[in-house]
Amino acid sequence: MRDYYDILGVSRDASQDDIKKSYRKVAMKFHPDKNPGDSSAEEKFKEAASAYSVLSDPSKRQQYDQFGHDAFSGAAGHGFSGNINVEDIFNSVFGGGIGDIFGGGMGSSQRNNHGATNLKVSLALTLEEICQGTKKTIKIKRWESSPKSSKAECSQCKGSGEIKRIQRSFLGQIVNVQPCRNCDGLGFIGGRDKVTASISINVPPGLSNGLKIQNEGNQSVLNNEKGDIIVYFEEKNHDLYVRDDHDIYLDCWINLSQATLGSKIEVPTLHGKVKLKVPKMTKSGLIMRLKGKGLPVVNRYRNGDQFVRINILTPSNLSSKQKKYIEEYDNIFGDDVKYDKFK
Ligand SMILES: [Zn+2]
Repeated sequence: MRDYYDILGVSRDASQDDIKKSYRKVAMKFHPDKNPGDSSAEEKFKEAASAYSVLSDPSKRQQYDQFGHDAFSGAAGHGFSGNINVEDIFNSVFGGGIGDIFGGGMGSSQRNNHGATNLKVSLALTLEEICQGTKKTIKIKRWESSPKSSKAECSQCKGSGEIKRIQRSFLGQIVNVQPCRNCDGLGFIGGRDKVTASISINVPPGLSNGLKIQNEGNQSVLNNEKGDIIVYFEEKNHDLYVRDDHDIYLDCWINLSQATLGSKIEVPTLHGKVKLKVPKMTKSGLIMRLKGKGLPVVNRYRNGDQFVRINILTPSNLSSKQKKYIEEYDNIFGDDVKYDKFK
């Protein structure tokens, strides 16, 4: 079994908050709904839940730190993952909001909906689009009922979509229900066509996980019922900004003179350029906050912040005039070296 910290990609001294954030990322990435039919993704999804269930609990985490996986080997030697409910863990972190996106509990047995199933699409968005909201049109292929195509009840399952097999055992009769293979569980043969449809998606500002468009999915072969389209957002890599939840991080380089004398700079943000006053005697590495210049928090009427780390720029080449000044600076400031404890 892999190391729990490696599974979540956190260091051994990660805070509870970091562990939760990392679990969110990993769980979103490998969620079975997002990776249909991919068993290695499902395995990773379960692995992440195991890791989170231990590392999110301080006493279990302590045991794990001390004894590793041995801490949770039961009598059967099956490790810890045997006893956890992956879905519960997922829901405890994502709450009701994301549960909605995934269309209810996963793994729960679905009644036969005769093909009124959900479609899943992923949509790549820039940070600007996530910040301001956007409208997108996508093309999808979905099943729609067709009057032209003749529909016939499946002869094998008589329209139920299920095949029941009764098995006798020493415990009595066991009824084994499985989807009908003849009609793929639809109950009917024919009666619908695959049609390309244009769907417009209205992405509200700040929404970064995904959304559900109701009744635009596959149509039932039996009646008017339709599944939904579940849209997962994927964030495009940004040239400048790094996002953490609703906050934005940016590195900035200024001259030694600007840092020493103080200066007013213009900082790019998702909301346009913002003036920032760098104080006198600013040390390299200072992080300044631009309040409210991060991503909108949905339904909260507030924004995250933007953090700007100030660095002092060492020139890569000098004009002769600049060189003269630097040499003069050197003469005045001397060549003392200051030492400090490594941080
Ligand atoms: Zn059938």
